[in-house]
Amino acid sequence: MRARVKIAGTAINPRPSMPNAPRPCLLSIVVPCFNEEQALPELLRRLSAVGEDIPAAELELVFVDDGSRDGTLEALREVAAEDARVRVLALSRNFGQMAATTAGLAAATGDAVVLIDADMQDPPEVIPEMVARWREGADVAYGQRTAREGEPAWKVWSSKAFTRFFNRASNIPLPTGMGDFRLLDRNAVDAFLAMPERDRCHRVMFAWTGFRQKAVPFHRPPRTTGTTGYTLRGLVRVALDGVLSFSLAPLRLATWIGLAMVAATLAGLAWGLIGRIFTATPVAGETLLFIAVLLVGGLQLLAIGVLGEYVGRIYGEVKRRPLYIVRERLGFPESGPEGEPALADQR
Ligand code: UDP
Ligand code: MG
Repeated sequence: MRARVKIAGTAINPRPSMPNAPRPCLLSIVVPCFNEEQALPELLRRLSAVGEDIPAAELELVFVDDGSRDGTLEALREVAAEDARVRVLALSRNFGQMAATTAGLAAATGDAVVLIDADMQDPPEVIPEMVARWREGADVAYGQRTAREGEPAWKVWSSKAFTRFFNRASNIPLPTGMGDFRLLDRNAVDAFLAMPERDRCHRVMFAWTGFRQKAVPFHRPPRTTGTTGYTLRGLVRVALDGVLSFSLAPLRLATWIGLAMVAATLAGLAWGLIGRIFTATPVAGETLLFIAVLLVGGLQLLAIGVLGEYVGRIYGEVKRRPLYIVRERLGFPESGPEGEPALADQR
């Protein structure tokens, strides 16, 4: 085992914002992995090289195997046996990137934690700059994508549209070009882990926690190996989670549409009544009735649909199931298989 340097009390004492020499720290790097066997060797090589570039930082590499179906876990097992800095959490099945990331954050013990994708679309070489921002006093240094090569246009467009919509619909400012790639101070990690909800849209949750946030621009290259675990459906789900769990805009939208429909119906009725009383060719009463019934029916369906979304989410929350289940822990000081308690119970 390597000697590990740990600064006592970082969560309690505010850090000096401008230290002269970098203080020794433990830097955790959390990597969610789903079928990333091919990417691992290069990722490890690049992370190790980057570690050398960061002064006075001890690395802790936390890999979370999110129920991979290829040889990811076996590869991680080998790495953990050779490298004392490596910790591996194997989840009991595929729980999805959000849950895997949360599992990694909960297991990381560093003074600062970097979240990074395994496919090297988040270049590890950006980490030293994030650490520099952190040492200058930022609590969160998030990667901001300046270019997204090799990604389908719909993905880039939908991400931008989501950010724009979100910024209008809620009062939490969401920066553009932001993914999960970021460095979090211990305080920011703890704040994130204190959020027990099941529907997790990380971009929004990180934005909600606040803190002093600094952007670190980087160029996002295409995936080098493997395939993306995301489909259009998956992305829509993540975006819906983000909007519905942080904004009442959809509920309000239904109310406004309802009001507009009621106003339109009343205007139509007035028009019909005026026609009947003052003109020779009155509007048929059945037409008006038909319009009114359709409008009200549509309105009710819409409102019920929106309510259903929220009720479904409440159902998900009240079950209080754990976000993930850990089947195996490797390379941790107290290694041994154990079940992970619910997130809320850990804090
Ligand atoms: N990932 C995961 N579980 C999943 C899907 C993805 O842990 O169910 C991991 C994946 O291994 C990668 C990161 O999350 O490290 C980002 O996934 P991906 O590259 O597929 O997403 P994209 O870059 O297309 O947004
Ligand atoms: Mg990727």
